[in-house]
Amino acid sequence: MIQVTLNNGVTLPTIGLGVFQSPPDETAAAVETALRTGYRHIDTAAAYGNERQVGEGLRASGVDRDEVFLETKVWVTDYGYDHTLHAFEKATGKLGVDTLDLLILHQPIPTRFDNTIAAYKALETLLDQGKVRAIGVSNFMPHHLERLLAATDVVPAVNQVELHPYFTQPEVQKADAAHGILTQAWSPIGGITFYPGWSDGARSVLQDATIAEIAAAHGKSPAQTMLRWGIQQGRSVIPKSTNPARIAENFDVFDFELSTDELSRIDALDTGVRGGPDPDQPSDAYFAREIPEA
Ligand code: NDP
Repeated sequence: MIQVTLNNGVTLPTIGLGVFQSPPDETAAAVETALRTGYRHIDTAAAYGNERQVGEGLRASGVDRDEVFLETKVWVTDYGYDHTLHAFEKATGKLGVDTLDLLILHQPIPTRFDNTIAAYKALETLLDQGKVRAIGVSNFMPHHLERLLAATDVVPAVNQVELHPYFTQPEVQKADAAHGILTQAWSPIGGITFYPGWSDGARSVLQDATIAEIAAAHGKSPAQTMLRWGIQQGRSVIPKSTNPARIAENFDVFDFELSTDELSRIDALDTGVRGGPDPDQPSDAYFAREIPEA
């Protein structure tokens, strides 16, 4: 397993299990399977409604809490200094842990950026108090990062953004790198390009001919090839699966290496077209979702 060192010295296992859209009744088993397979990093969020089951899976796995990197996200209705401090209590209460390894803001709210900054200042306080080992953001574009950095003290350790071969966000990657922020890829195998109900009519990156050709040359699957591309380019990747065989497949990416030419061919697939929501256009539905108490 490969680890990356964050800008505050904390190490993060490059591959984590994602649990967005993992139904609560399948999440504990997926987390347990992943930890037994060798994963040591789980990415959840208050908004996924399954933090409690992530905690159950962690305990069922028998793996020590201290060996697992637990990452979760504060939802926008919990932004604001006091609300975000309380969001930490909600998250740890559901997860059944005392501390978090990484706590990030799920989205910037461009129309209420003061509130986003106040939320981030609460993360800084939690970091200072030793309640979280690292803090960060998600779905921040370079102009959001600039506004945040101008108003706060701690540079985010991580920026988690949509990133797969059809949407590589070079400007975000450049801005992250310039500030020592680790780019963490959500939908690292392009889930947003094929998940049912969301992406009808979209081109699935899992079916891409170039990726299939590179995968075949290494005797690996398209998913493994995309994860390897992400890791070799220094990103953290958090593929989601509730299927034990695919959970294992997605972790089996440490025994091959893509050439510079293969990495470039995958980079060249970028369409510049986002699959997920535009971070500058938050939907009204975001503000209607309340996060329950622990
Ligand atoms: P992924 O790129 O991880 O793809 C997940 C989809 O791929 C699921 O439908 C899964 O189904 C399927 N799958 C998993 N492994 C394989 C495989 N080896 N071969 C073929 N299909 C496979 O997409 P996500 O959007 O889920 O992103 C990963 C994680 O990123 C999320 O779970 C979440 O933690 C985070 N995320 C964060 C967002 C944010 O705004 N910050 C937004 C979206 C995601 P199955 O379970 O049946 O295997």
